[in-house]
Amino acid sequence: MALVSPIKLSDGDKLETLQRLDQFRQWHSLDEKRYCLVCGKIITGREIQVIGGRRGNGPLRIICPTEHCHAIPMDWVRPTDEVLIKIAMVEAERRKNCLIIRAGHATRALPKKNDEQYDQQNEA
Ligand SMILES: [Zn+2]
Repeated sequence: MALVSPIKLSDGDKLETLQRLDQFRQWHSLDEKRYCLVCGKIITGREIQVIGGRRGNGPLRIICPTEHCHAIPMDWVRPTDEVLIKIAMVEAERRKNCLIIRAGHATRALPKKNDEQYDQQNEA
């Protein structure tokens, strides 16, 4: 259940809001991209959600559009080549770990099967 629903703003207002609330990096367009350090996704200014600003909702703030990610401007970095390489490396590492885990399951499953066959052959 969403506690606060995002506010719909015109492109101009949204850009102005991003510029005002993101004190860490400058926004020149809603199509600019940021890399969210919390959820590891590339987000655009257009996707960023503006919430709050009304009574009971606290001050106006901008949050990451990714579900369950409540990153704030401080967590968004420009996707420079350096950052993109890092993302690719993290992704490659994650895939490698997946393969290692899968390979681990496969090799562990294999001897067991062979043992059974071996036992059966011995019994016969
Ligand atoms: Zn995020």
